[in-house]
Amino acid sequence: VDALTPERRSENMRRIRSKGMKPELEVRKLVHGLGYRYRLHVKSLPGKPDLVFASRRKIIQVHGCFWHQHKDPACRIARKPKSNISYWIDKLKRNEERDSRQARWLAKEGWTVLTVWECSVQDKKKLARTITRFLNN
Ligand SMILES: [Zn+2]
Repeated sequence: VDALTPERRSENMRRIRSKGMKPELEVRKLVHGLGYRYRLHVKSLPGKPDLVFASRRKIIQVHGCFWHQHKDPACRIARKPKSNISYWIDKLKRNEERDSRQARWLAKEGWTVLTVWECSVQDKKKLARTITRFLNN
């Protein structure tokens, strides 16, 4: 039995989603600090990718570990939902399918994509190295 009303549920989802905004802001700040310039959420590309480096034809996507179900066993954030399980499984499965559709399209159009996972944002030094290597190659 689903105990949440639709209003309550979308309220919960909003909260989770806005919490998920923070890693993206941290990555933006870091990349900016490294001296790279980018465009945000380019609407002409599928899924409005987070950071777009058009002249390098590169993209950085920041993925929330829960929303995008990070598969790394070391990840401590990508927990499985404990309630409304069938609702969440369906929802997360659709996220995953959308992600892979977008990734295929972008690759076909010649874009190289770096996915930065929420749980990797904590180690800024390592992340800075990864991003620099990605953008300079
Ligand atoms: Zn993770």
